[in-house]
Amino acid sequence: MNLHEYQGKEILASFGVRIQRGMVAHNAQEAVDVAKRLTQETGSEWHVIKAQVHAGGRGKGGGVKLAKNLDEVEQIAGQIIGMDLVTPQTPPEGKRVHQVLVAEDVYYPGENEPDEYYMSVLLNRATGRNMIMYSTEGGMDIEEVAEKTPHLIFNEEIDPTIGLMPFQARKIAFNLGLSGMAFKEMTKFVTSLYKAYVESDSNLFEINPVLKTSDDKIMAVDAKVSIDDNSLYRRPVYAEMRDLREESAIEVEAREVGLNYVDLDGNVGCMVNGAGLAMATMDLIKMAGGEPANFLDVGGTADAKRVEEAFRIILKDPAVKAILVNIFGGIVRCDRVAQGIVDAYKNMGDSIKVPIIVRLQGTNAELAKEIIDNSGLAVHSAVQFQEAADKVKEVLA
Ligand code: GDP
Ligand code: MN
Repeated sequence: MNLHEYQGKEILASFGVRIQRGMVAHNAQEAVDVAKRLTQETGSEWHVIKAQVHAGGRGKGGGVKLAKNLDEVEQIAGQIIGMDLVTPQTPPEGKRVHQVLVAEDVYYPGENEPDEYYMSVLLNRATGRNMIMYSTEGGMDIEEVAEKTPHLIFNEEIDPTIGLMPFQARKIAFNLGLSGMAFKEMTKFVTSLYKAYVESDSNLFEINPVLKTSDDKIMAVDAKVSIDDNSLYRRPVYAEMRDLREESAIEVEAREVGLNYVDLDGNVGCMVNGAGLAMATMDLIKMAGGEPANFLDVGGTADAKRVEEAFRIILKDPAVKAILVNIFGGIVRCDRVAQGIVDAYKNMGDSIKVPIIVRLQGTNAELAKEIIDNSGLAVHSAVQFQEAADKVKEVLA
């Protein structure tokens, strides 16, 4: 589950990670009120107004702006709230901004130059360990840094049984070229950041930039935080932070009925049991000249009710031109799945307007094919993988 920057920062702060202070506002007047309150704390009239949407690159898209007085806060907040912000990470039509973060300006001049670093915490799936990825090249596109100057990106892997060791935090501060007070601040920052990552059940923290202020404080200026969905049952406070407006409406509905569904851009809907088979099915669709419209794992119970729910979800996507059902009957018998499909189809009456190809393999597969073939419905059956691919090609032609 992805969070907004302001929510991610709240979590970081709750673990003692220093952040650029700020508060969320839903309209221009609230933004002014927040700015007044911040000025009481900081003594500064300068604030940044930051669009809160689930997408990075906001700065480039005009979603992050500096306001030097209350009039500018009001004007900029008014302009950003309600806009459709387009960044390299949004869909081409942009994302509607419902709220802004009004934050203290932390790029104030001083003895030293402010400096921006990159830092993320994530799981390295290859080694099965958490790692801290960091770079001196903060504030810009990390993908570009990785491509052009990969030697400027460092990794620090953490032994899960020991946790982050003090020498590792010092090594990170050292590799970032820090000394003195900034060095100490960075070791504290890294230590609390890692603790926050583990104890919040997150699966991604990306802090870009981490800022060294002109008076050598280290703080998170941006925060991309993603909490592991599987932990939300024991993190009710975080679960509350979900913003459904930021998520695909179909995915939200699928989650409610317990289906594992991911929206994609193609034209062939997929209904599959098991994630591995779902991946193979998507490959199959591509080989047949189609593009998968979704990833959908119906899980272990492919009964009529579940199949019907899955059909309904898939058909909400207007791009779907055909549906491929690919189910392996191991514990669940193919003939029962076939009956489920036939019942669901009959229940749904006219709402299914696209061809359906059903490939059932496993226990009672031949019997299942008979049930489909004898149902009198416009459903194409297949037993072999290739047969199913050929039928997809046929109906798309
Ligand atoms: P992103 O573009 O979506 O990644 O949003 P960020 O939160 O990273 O902000 C983008 C850029 O805005 C940062 O890299 C900074 O250069 C700038 N910025 C953020 N906070 C401040 C601030 O307090 N003062 C000034 N002057 N610039 C800021
Ligand atoms: Mn950023």
